[in-house]
Amino acid sequence: QMLDLHTCTQCGRCDRVCPAWKTDKPLSPQQLTVDLRDRLNSPPDSDIPLLGETIEDETIWSCTTCGACESACPVMIEYVDKIIGLRQGLVLTEDRYPKEFISAFKSLETQSNPWGFPNASRSNWAKDLGVPIWDKTQPTEYLYFVGCNGSFDTRGKKITEAVVKTLRDAGVDFSILGNDEGCTGDPARRAGNEYLYDMLASKNAQTFKEKGVRKVVTHCPHCFNSLKNEYPEFGSQLEVIHHSELLQKLIQDGKVI
Ligand code: SF4
Ligand code: SF4
Repeated sequence: QMLDLHTCTQCGRCDRVCPAWKTDKPLSPQQLTVDLRDRLNSPPDSDIPLLGETIEDETIWSCTTCGACESACPVMIEYVDKIIGLRQGLVLTEDRYPKEFISAFKSLETQSNPWGFPNASRSNWAKDLGVPIWDKTQPTEYLYFVGCNGSFDTRGKKITEAVVKTLRDAGVDFSILGNDEGCTGDPARRAGNEYLYDMLASKNAQTFKEKGVRKVVTHCPHCFNSLKNEYPEFGSQLEVIHHSELLQKLIQDGKVI
């Protein structure tokens, strides 16, 4: 990360693709790099705080963690990990974060979703559809990991129902965890609450292990990224496929027309 800061050519490509910068938020990824580099080169006994002075809180919270800057950067500078690290400093060390996070963190901790819906109602969407619950003695080929949005949000549930219908029409063998599913923890990690992320991810990883889950399909891009790229840290060696990839394969095989 320190080498990253000295590698920047200040070409501005990151700014040109950054949705925060384009919508007048106080975040220029290029300037962030320059400010962090200058800070790194400043005398080690500088008493100017990094958080809140060198880098304003608003700058840190303006990032959507989309990664567009990383894709555009010709020298492959990474931003998201640095910004998440700065957020961890604000949340876990400084105890300073947007007030909206207070209820979201509490809901994630107590109900395993960011909105505070009772976790016991997570699979209510599936009741009338008769979607089977994962049975470790008779596992299906895929576990369909629905995610919080697909379980609780009105529009999200319509997506879930459409995915269920399509998978069924194509003859895919799948089931869901029902109320044993929990938030992947992605919102907590992106918000800098690594402690909460660890708690949520550990619980899901334990569930996968106990139930013998191996192959997962999900329509949620956040769940996909988390389960595929971050859950190996928790011992989950899952084969994770996005529903669009599975549908593409089913179309190629002539199972979806
Ligand atoms: S795109 Fe990369 S090299 Fe160019 S200004 Fe941004 S961080 Fe620096
Ligand atoms: S990851 Fe953050 S800094 Fe990079 S383009 Fe997206 S919003 Fe901007």
